[in-house]
Amino acid sequence: MLRDSLATIAVIVAFGLSGCVQEKQQGTSQNGNSSGGSGGSGSSSRGGFFFCDTRDLDRDSSKNLANLFSDFNKSFVAKASSNSSTLYTIPVNFHVIMKDDSAEGGDVPDESLAEQVDILNRAYSGEIGGVGTPYRFELAGINRVVNGKWHSFAPGAPEETEVKKALRVGDAKTLNVFIMDILVPKGGTGKILGYSTFPFVYKMQPALDGIMLHYRAVPGSDLDHYNAGHVLVHESGHWLGLLHTFTGACDGLFTDLVSDTPREKTPTRGNYCPTNLDSCPSNPGLDPIHNHMTYTGDECRTEFTSGQVSFMKFNTMIFRGLK
Ligand SMILES: [Zn+2]
Repeated sequence: MLRDSLATIAVIVAFGLSGCVQEKQQGTSQNGNSSGGSGGSGSSSRGGFFFCDTRDLDRDSSKNLANLFSDFNKSFVAKASSNSSTLYTIPVNFHVIMKDDSAEGGDVPDESLAEQVDILNRAYSGEIGGVGTPYRFELAGINRVVNGKWHSFAPGAPEETEVKKALRVGDAKTLNVFIMDILVPKGGTGKILGYSTFPFVYKMQPALDGIMLHYRAVPGSDLDHYNAGHVLVHESGHWLGLLHTFTGACDGLFTDLVSDTPREKTPTRGNYCPTNLDSCPSNPGLDPIHNHMTYTGDECRTEFTSGQVSFMKFNTMIFRGLK
């Protein structure tokens, strides 16, 4: 009964959250750059790349999600979940969308994609740092497509819908990763490493579920600081429900909705691993520079926290049906 009521609330909340999805699909941008990629506050990039275009939630969506998470935490389902050692294996389908079949044209070798899945498993098991999560990944398929029009576009462009509707496979429990050349919106300069949909929008837009990943943000590429496979660890964190650790900055009402990630003022741009950074000195803790959900370099991001695991479990149980 409680599980049914949580599911009902989830549907209501999901519809209440749809506004931010519409905004994303239209590719709106506040500053000529991707607002998610630049942290919504600046214009600098590293080596021509902005990190992530996954958008922060608006105030109402944050409030709704926070309330649902709070209700969930009081339920016996959450208690049972916290004591469970169940592992969830997520099938991963890669769609490599190339201009031509050269490395410069966007091809990514099978070995690199297999290594990418290994890296996901090492990160989510806690092998490289932080706590272990219940998520594991297995390679389900590699699909290569040569299509110049689909190879290179900005978030929210009509091509994104075309690509996803044509290529996406599976259900809410299936991870689809579209590997291509992600442009900054509206003719801006630069590229974007990746972005993802959130679990709570799956019910409204199942055909658009998945992660967009730049073809140079994969293991073994020539893109220094982003070629260790940790960009997909970050984006899959979003796909499992996590928000950026800098959400809400130092004093915003809503943060990343996780209790054990210290606040940080900005997405730690300008330094790939700024140790002892404390951008919110009036709040407890140093900036979580090693957390997978901030914007430091691949070599610096090695951790998930217990609070993030709880939030991921809530998201995947309610919105992706991983029970
Ligand atoms: Zn992100």
